[in-house]
Amino acid sequence: MSGLAAAGALARTGWTVTLLERADRLRPGRAAVLLWPNGVRALASLGLGGAGGVEAVGTAVPALGVRRPDGRWLQQPDGSAPVALAVHRTDLHDMLVAGLGDQVEICTGVSIRTTRPTTRRPGVSDGTTTWEADLIVGADGADSVLRRRLAPASTLVSGGYALWRAVIPWYRVPEQVGTAAGTAAGGELIGDAHRFSYAVLGDRAEKRGGVYWVAAAPGAARPEPPETQLTLLRRWFAGWHPPVGDLLAATDPEDLVQETVRDLRPVPKLAHPAGPISSQGRSTGGSAPLRALATAGPGGYLLVGDAAHAMSAHAGQGPGLAAEDAATLQIVLHGVVPGGSLSEALADYARLRSARIARVASHVRRLDAALHSRGRFSVGSRFAPRLLERVAAVAAEWQPPAR
Ligand SMILES: Cc1cc2nc3c(=O)[nH]c(=O)nc-3n(C[C@H](O)[C@H](O)[C@H](O)COP(=O)(O)OP(=O)(O)OC[C@H]3O[C@@H](n4cnc5c(N)ncnc54)[C@H](O)[C@@H]3O)c2cc1C
Repeated sequence: MSGLAAAGALARTGWTVTLLERADRLRPGRAAVLLWPNGVRALASLGLGGAGGVEAVGTAVPALGVRRPDGRWLQQPDGSAPVALAVHRTDLHDMLVAGLGDQVEICTGVSIRTTRPTTRRPGVSDGTTTWEADLIVGADGADSVLRRRLAPASTLVSGGYALWRAVIPWYRVPEQVGTAAGTAAGGELIGDAHRFSYAVLGDRAEKRGGVYWVAAAPGAARPEPPETQLTLLRRWFAGWHPPVGDLLAATDPEDLVQETVRDLRPVPKLAHPAGPISSQGRSTGGSAPLRALATAGPGGYLLVGDAAHAMSAHAGQGPGLAAEDAATLQIVLHGVVPGGSLSEALADYARLRSARIARVASHVRRLDAALHSRGRFSVGSRFAPRLLERVAAVAAEWQPPAR
């Protein structure tokens, strides 16, 4: 999503944009996203979603509280206002594609393999064709080719747990889930390093709606086929407080999306001047490489989205941070031209985003440590509700930078 969001942001600031995508077409991800207030604010700042904004396609998720697997409360919901918005990924994708307007050239089936490290003008190549530009935005996900090239010191560390998401379509959702008389509009359960949360998506009349759930279990990503993964999930979560068992029973193997959870450490330098990168690329931060932007001629490379800040999925901040990146880009590039002012804008972007990402990442790591604690007393899970609240509060702090 960060590539679409950034391309739209650049196009709206008057840039001519080429979007390079490895897949044979632009595809929405499967399942859904939970957008926290920062993500909703960032999409609004980007001007996406028309008059109703992203709220028009999302479902408000109330404060859920947290239960133990046996149903006892770890923390009761406080009845406060909705805390997040559940949005089907197809709806989010459609909104981002609509936001591209007609100024973005889309080239699919292009797998970028390298940057042009020896020239003063930024460029990328798929081994056959080279694309040059004033600015190259690396939005190529956690396994980013661009980041490996530009900031090789940042590496992906396994999150230590496996994670699945699914949307069960309404026609398969058990009757009692999400109705006033039955199970609430959502729920969150934590115990012995396992976690299960769910939220209602749309109402029963909606075609794309259903129930969105996320399950996490310790260990590595599972290589087995989805049928076996589902069997394992049903076994691990057997006996958990309703409706966990009902939801897993209603899930089909093809609903499952397994996500490889990784944490990028350290957070890479986000802005890279064009030109030889042998020394700059190895730098892991600090002000010197940013200052080098001013002398490196016009333009450079930027990293956004998971390429810049892949992090544990427990806090669900991937989509929100990607939206913040694009909103910040749109603001810092407003009225900017290649040359000096572009270099300054890229330095501004890096300054604004680095501090923010480091702050969110440190809270997410604390949350992970608590969630992954195991054992009879599972002390960590007692702290998890407070840490979940803290991460949500830190995420919600974000405001678009002043124009
Ligand atoms: C399998 C998976 C499922 C997920 N599901 C959810 C979910 O349901 N809900 C949720 O909240 N979060 C989910 N996430 C996390 C979330 O998608 C991301 O945190 C967030 O959307 C930011 O993604 P991104 O656009 O930066 O990267 P990505 O979503 O990984 O997108 C990167 C894009 O770059 C393209 N690309 C990669 N390499 C190249 C290359 N060399 N050349 C050209 N193009 C390239 C890819 O094809 C892709 O389109 C998921 C992540 C993964 C990996």
